[in-house]
Amino acid sequence: MAYLSRLRLTNFRNLTHLDIELSPGVTVYYGPNAQGKTTLLEAVYLLCIAKSFRAENERELVSFEAARSGEQALVDGTIQKMGRSLRVIVGYQPTQRSSQNANGLSYNVRKEIRVNRLKHTAGELIGQVNAVLFSAADIELVQGPPSGRRRFLDILLSQADQAYLKRLQLYYRVVQQRNQLLRLLREGRAESDELAFWDDELVREGASITWQRQEAMRELTPACMRHHEDLSGPEENLEVEYRPSVLLGGDVAEIENNFREALAAASHREWARPITAVGPHRDDFNLTIDGADMGIFASRGQARTLALALRLAEAEFLESVRGEGPVVLFDDALSEMDGSRRHRLLEKATRYEQVLVTTTDLEQVNDFFGPGANYFHVSGGQVWPSDQEGNVGETPVSSAEVEEALEEKIAEASEAANQAIDETV
Ligand code: ATP
Ligand code: MG
Repeated sequence: MAYLSRLRLTNFRNLTHLDIELSPGVTVYYGPNAQGKTTLLEAVYLLCIAKSFRAENERELVSFEAARSGEQALVDGTIQKMGRSLRVIVGYQPTQRSSQNANGLSYNVRKEIRVNRLKHTAGELIGQVNAVLFSAADIELVQGPPSGRRRFLDILLSQADQAYLKRLQLYYRVVQQRNQLLRLLREGRAESDELAFWDDELVREGASITWQRQEAMRELTPACMRHHEDLSGPEENLEVEYRPSVLLGGDVAEIENNFREALAAASHREWARPITAVGPHRDDFNLTIDGADMGIFASRGQARTLALALRLAEAEFLESVRGEGPVVLFDDALSEMDGSRRHRLLEKATRYEQVLVTTTDLEQVNDFFGPGANYFHVSGGQVWPSDQEGNVGETPVSSAEVEEALEEKIAEASEAANQAIDETV
């Protein structure tokens, strides 16, 4: 069992100074738009997955003010895991001061990850504590392009098995190299026998990735169908079909053979358009209800429910592989659902050890959780204690009496991250 017990943020988007304690169970963060609710969950996700779920470039995470002054952004979390405490710090140091223009973003950031003071790569952090995020943007899993569904599988498998992420990174480098070679071949600037080496690399890494995805889909599919039926009732007949770019097989060797055949068959296409034409970078999976492709025909509520079923299946998969349930994050994921679907979803999701929920509409959740959850109001980058009715306390949780102690801790955390960052130069 694992849960986040403390979160300290410095210059993280609009959360410039925050130090909050968290408990297991359900915590609701509510408040108007643009106050920092999603940013809070983004920080928690970052501690687990080592990446933001929404920033295109991680320099966006540094508060505008800090980017101007060259100060660093810090996400500092304490995680309780099997009776032990794990301290994870992710720091971003702007490497150049930005220009006058607040969001001109004319700077880069250097990222540094520490777990219990030891330097870690992103690949080493992911999987230490699992997380599953339910977000309003998940509708894209159903209606968006295949890349979103591959990302879903990749994040899930990377959390389940760190070796998967390494293999994936290697595979993408191989695809790039091979594409480069295909271009040179077409221009007559390389010999065709050079391709054999890259084909071998491509097939070896690609077949293992396909195999792992195939096995994951085998578990995810029935779980997704079950959750979907629980949420929407038995009338809708869901099918989930993995659509790999190369034929599946009973073992990795068989997939390797299929991959080689597919590559040979694609050689004309690759000559016409010098881009690696087959492999897991072209995979997809398909969701149909009563035969209708949900990528095209889903209603908003249907797409939303399907996405939620996928996320519930993801949480269940991680729990079964890691023997430990994920931290569950709900970012504004409850809108557009009718009351009964919302209740059924919350019943399922709130059995995990720690569940953090954000909403603009307290009434959407307090009838379900009642006094059984912790409530906080988020306003202007600060977090205020509240009760379930929305009566907000007078002082934010991280200021007033704790201010002095807080400053000390932030200084200490900054020092740790400073030291960490200095060592990379
Ligand atoms: P909503 O209910 O609309 O989803 P929210 O409370 O989830 O709102 P956030 O997405 O957390 O809001 O954003 C909070 C505020 O932080 C927004 O005003 C946003 O523009 C601002 N913001 C985003 N990035 C930065 C940054 N790098 N520096 C300063 N502020 C930022
Ligand atoms: Mg938000």
